[in-house]
Amino acid sequence: MAASVSVSTSQRHIDLELKYGANNYLPLPVVIERAEGPWVWDPDGKKYLDMLSAYSALNQGHRHPRIIDALKNQADQVTLVSRAFHSTQMGRLLELLTTLTGYPKTLLMNTGAEAVETALKTVRKWGYKVKGVPADQAEIIVCRNNFHGRTTTIVGFSSEEQYRDGFGPFAPGFKLIDYGDSEALEHAITPHTVAFLVEPIQGEGGIIVPSAGYLQRVREICTRHNVLLALDEIQTGLGRTGKLFAFEHEDIRPDVLIVGKALGGGVLPISGVLSSEEIMGVFKPGDHGSTFGGNPLACAVARASLAVLVEEKLPERAARLGKFMMKELRAIESKHVADVRGVGLLIGVEIKVSSGPARPFCERLRDLGILAKETHGQVIRFAPPLVVRKRELKWALEQIAAVLQD
Ligand SMILES: *Cc1c(COP(=O)(O)O)cnc(C)c1O
Repeated sequence: MAASVSVSTSQRHIDLELKYGANNYLPLPVVIERAEGPWVWDPDGKKYLDMLSAYSALNQGHRHPRIIDALKNQADQVTLVSRAFHSTQMGRLLELLTTLTGYPKTLLMNTGAEAVETALKTVRKWGYKVKGVPADQAEIIVCRNNFHGRTTTIVGFSSEEQYRDGFGPFAPGFKLIDYGDSEALEHAITPHTVAFLVEPIQGEGGIIVPSAGYLQRVREICTRHNVLLALDEIQTGLGRTGKLFAFEHEDIRPDVLIVGKALGGGVLPISGVLSSEEIMGVFKPGDHGSTFGGNPLACAVARASLAVLVEEKLPERAARLGKFMMKELRAIESKHVADVRGVGLLIGVEIKVSSGPARPFCERLRDLGILAKETHGQVIRFAPPLVVRKRELKWALEQIAAVLQD
């Protein structure tokens, strides 16, 4: 009896969302009521291992005690001042970001898409003020199969038809090239090109890892043509791939670095664009802004989120556990698997088209207590919080093997 009553509790919440919400997502039918570390619970008390981590916004795990402490302490002081005034929190976060990354300047926003928009404004203004591109002629090169967010400008340069359908007209000034093809970049550059915007690994695009040396080659090409390299590390950054940033794997540095997601420790939205004095120097008071951008509550949370990443050595954990997980996933003999790929704890398992879409596999994983979500139809993304333990991953791998070998 108890079970059927509580199942209807979950269903009631799902029905409310369906009845009153816009139908812009297709969630797995799981209601999460409570969470801790890598684990979440539904209203029935059924426990699941979170292997999506809110698309890598939860690298530090759910409700990390240190981040929640920072949230509570700051909530008792002041939460919002707007950028009309200073706070005791923003400067300290900016300083920590510079210490950790070496970039002298940061512009803080809230969501990832806003940070990408900020980066687009930055590189365009740099193009006009510093590079000397004629007014309104700036070109930005981006990659097919990209994901940089959902604003109208950003979906305007998506190659995903559904992301664009019905949302035009779109902003001009973007050129699409194939991902992973550095020669295409060389050919696409003109004297009006101001930047190349790219993800080190395409996350939403299906965990697409470019061949080794790609970032080094694009770095060299951008430098040679005086084109800014802007890396979107919103999903790959902050430990996910086994380094603080994915660009460290190739020993390069972008001119513009975009961060978000795990910067807020899964607690609050906060994002940022990091760059040099010269590039960030194009902004003058009044050029750009956001009411909540850099608010003291989010800054306090972000500072704790970064401290947790560094002090708990979460990038190193991601490297170690990612190697283990990749090896174990590759060892699973399954007639359904076309490919296993990824870096660190950002791993994609591609299901063969002949085995149908990935979603039914995710539904079976959910029945066994694993929350994972398909991306691009055929790929199951496994990206657990970086605080996950090896024995928890071992258990997860048993469930994954059971589903893939079915
Ligand atoms: C999630 C994501 C974004 C958008 O972030 P939002 O906070 O959802 O606006 C942009 N770029 C990449 C690579 C992402 O993964």
